[in-house]
Amino acid sequence: MRHRIAVVGGGPAGLTFARVLHRRGHPVTVFERDAGPGARPPGGTIDLHEGMGQRALDKAGLLAEFRALSRPEGQAMRILAPDGTVLRDWRPRPDDRANPEIDRGQLRDLLLGPLDVRWGHGVTEVRPGTRDGALLRFADGRQETFDLVVGADGAWSRVRPALSAATPQYTGVTAVETSLDDVDTRHPDLARLIGDGSMAVYGVNRALVAQRNSGGHVKVYAQFRAPLDRRADTEGDTGPDGVEAVRGRLLALFEGWADPLLDLLRRGTAFADRPLHVLPVSHTWDHVPGVTLLGDAAHLMPPLGVGANLAMLEGAELAESLAADPGDPDGVVRAFEERMWERAGRWAKMTADGLERLVGPDPATALALFDEVQPS
Ligand SMILES: Cc1cc2nc3c(=O)[nH]c(=O)nc-3n(C[C@H](O)[C@H](O)[C@H](O)COP(=O)(O)OP(=O)(O)OC[C@H]3O[C@@H](n4cnc5c(N)ncnc54)[C@H](O)[C@@H]3O)c2cc1C
Repeated sequence: MRHRIAVVGGGPAGLTFARVLHRRGHPVTVFERDAGPGARPPGGTIDLHEGMGQRALDKAGLLAEFRALSRPEGQAMRILAPDGTVLRDWRPRPDDRANPEIDRGQLRDLLLGPLDVRWGHGVTEVRPGTRDGALLRFADGRQETFDLVVGADGAWSRVRPALSAATPQYTGVTAVETSLDDVDTRHPDLARLIGDGSMAVYGVNRALVAQRNSGGHVKVYAQFRAPLDRRADTEGDTGPDGVEAVRGRLLALFEGWADPLLDLLRRGTAFADRPLHVLPVSHTWDHVPGVTLLGDAAHLMPPLGVGANLAMLEGAELAESLAADPGDPDGVVRAFEERMWERAGRWAKMTADGLERLVGPDPATALALFDEVQPS
């Protein structure tokens, strides 16, 4: 009998897992809480690293399509001082394909392809070890059992409690996101400031990052240290007064920074609050037959360009291993978990240290970090 496999969550981890299994001829069902692929804005751009996200896409047979869609020029990275001085201006060679950028929505559509995704299926609970397998309960009261449930449902996973009591903790850093549309036509001065890829400015305990997406869309992240209950309070500020109130608070936080940098906040449209949470650096659990976790559900870490890459690589590797050894899925999952914990633990530590340096008291350490990781 074929194993009944369910994935909870249609993000980078869940879709990559499902797509690689599908390619190997194994049926798999993805349960996704969102009502459909367009139910909410898909988020910003992500760069897929050659040895991680791109390797995962290769295993899914999607590397050529990714290359056609992605933006190698988006790897460009510029660092400015708060007074506007350009400190670094790194541009990729024309043939550089190490970390090209792709919009999250494009990546999702690429991965979705022919997959069997049950949209509007929010999972509320997983109960492993029932007579018929692991039981999934849905928000509408229905339930279904599977031989293996893969929890790829992100930071606030509803699968995780079946394995671990860990919950995400606030890092002390909040990112408030805003965006600019049609930047080359409507804001050519800011388009020049940002360049072809990303621009970052590091000050004392705060940072401003702007990233180009496709189609002239730019996402701006104002990052700062603040207690969880005294952030910029953007939640619920959806009306025009609310937007202006948030803008005012952000401009006050970045007071004294060069005018063109503040224009990124002055001209941003809406604001969304993203307090950064993490799971413990070496999060593991006692193996439970029939259930496992991938991606942010297993190892939520600061957003420093790794999370989606790791999530996809894990998804592809677990799917490949299951397809290669269909006789012993539990043994495959056990071995996979050991590998995942070891690798993710290293990245979690690196990104936690990175966040301390990037949004910390000494901006020089942020610049030094850029010099350490950026190819010359
Ligand atoms: C601002 C920001 C920028 C980032 N930039 C980068 C970057 O450049 N590069 C990079 O590698 N990483 C980046 N990351 C990290 C990256 O977004 C995550 O690590 C990655 O999305 C994790 O993928 P995932 O599939 O594990 O989880 P998610 O992307 O969170 O996907 C989880 C999915 O599960 C669904 N879901 C949730 N709960 C349920 C439920 N109960 N039932 C059913 N479905 C459910 C959700 O709707 C979602 O579709 C960034 C993160 C942030 C916040």
